[in-house]
Amino acid sequence: MSFINENFLELQDSYLFSTIAKKVAKFIEENPNKKVIKLGIGDVTRPIVPACQDAMHKAINEMGTKEGFKGYGPEQGYEFLRKAIVKNDYKARGVEIAEDEVFVSDGAKCDCGNIVDIFGKDNKVAITDPVYPVYLDTNIMSGRKITYLPVTAENNFVPQLPKEKVDMIYLCFPNNPTGTVLTKEELKKWVNYAKKNQSIILYDAAYEAFITEKEIPHSIYEVEGAKEVAIEFKSYSKTAGFTGIRCAYVVIPKDLKGYTKEGKEVSLNQLWNRRTCTKFNGVSYIVQKAAEATYSENGKQQIQENINYYLENAKIIKQGLEEAGFTCYGGVNSPYVWLQVPDKMTSWEFFDELLQKANVVGTPGSGFGKHGEGYFRLTAFGTKENTIEAIQRIKNRL
Ligand SMILES: *Cc1c(COP(=O)(O)O)cnc(C)c1O
Repeated sequence: MSFINENFLELQDSYLFSTIAKKVAKFIEENPNKKVIKLGIGDVTRPIVPACQDAMHKAINEMGTKEGFKGYGPEQGYEFLRKAIVKNDYKARGVEIAEDEVFVSDGAKCDCGNIVDIFGKDNKVAITDPVYPVYLDTNIMSGRKITYLPVTAENNFVPQLPKEKVDMIYLCFPNNPTGTVLTKEELKKWVNYAKKNQSIILYDAAYEAFITEKEIPHSIYEVEGAKEVAIEFKSYSKTAGFTGIRCAYVVIPKDLKGYTKEGKEVSLNQLWNRRTCTKFNGVSYIVQKAAEATYSENGKQQIQENINYYLENAKIIKQGLEEAGFTCYGGVNSPYVWLQVPDKMTSWEFFDELLQKANVVGTPGSGFGKHGEGYFRLTAFGTKENTIEAIQRIKNRL
């Protein structure tokens, strides 16, 4: 008899996006003449920039020659990409990261999910609420105890340090879904907490490229001492439109230690390297060449244009809704605007009202956790024209 991992039975079914899809499909069927605008998507929509296209074309041609053909690459990623990451994402911000502290992967979602492999089952895990569901579900799957850290308007979306001791802490800033950020001082409190309690911070910086305010840190390692307590996840998905191409990386500093039950220190970098070599055979050369091209002069500029396009949409959403009397958060350093649902409606009631009266689709905050109730997420990943029209309709019809 093969027994299952019963932790899977503890998972809550996530009906969020399928429920949304069903409601939208039904509305369109009943109202075939109405144009529905979707501002619920958490996926980029602008095409891959020319610099990355060119790099991929070149890489494909190279692979088609005897001299240029490549089989398996290094499990941790090609040196050219790890070097470019260290130089552009860290050294340029005054942060020293070594190449062998960077592991290139096919996505931050997998990295955030897989990282639990190297941690003990008995660790207590702190996770913000509302949250990107991957951190929560992967820890439920592996049977860990969760402490929820509410992030709401009451605490200005800054998670408070837990009262009890936790061993692993997931932080995501700029945040999905709330679009809010932490200052260096706020982040410093977490680094200090982690040092004091010998905990590890798992820092998801997938939306780092959307930061516009100078004082907001792009990496947790900009905070002094963070290299002793933090693992950082980054992705080309939202930065460079790679959601379909797949490339990301995780940084595990060599200073980072975990402990055996007997209290012996073990290098987390070594554990992750072992795991990577055992379970992963590297990201495609073609894709890594595309990722490298994001750091070329042309690449940087073209990508920034796309980011600016999304940020302009975010501004249109935020300003438009504030004019209409909504209270909004995020949208400044993020493609997400998190708004307070009016008139004591629930998130789902507001979803229905928006769909019926404005024919606009967003995402109910309660789908991201209990403390997301009463909030609603709109995203900047639509076209500018649709974004303007959607906000106009929300203003006019509500
Ligand atoms: C989109 C997203 C990612 C990126 O995941 P990939 O697997 O790299 O596409 C990571 N974290 C959060 C919070 C996200 O929203």
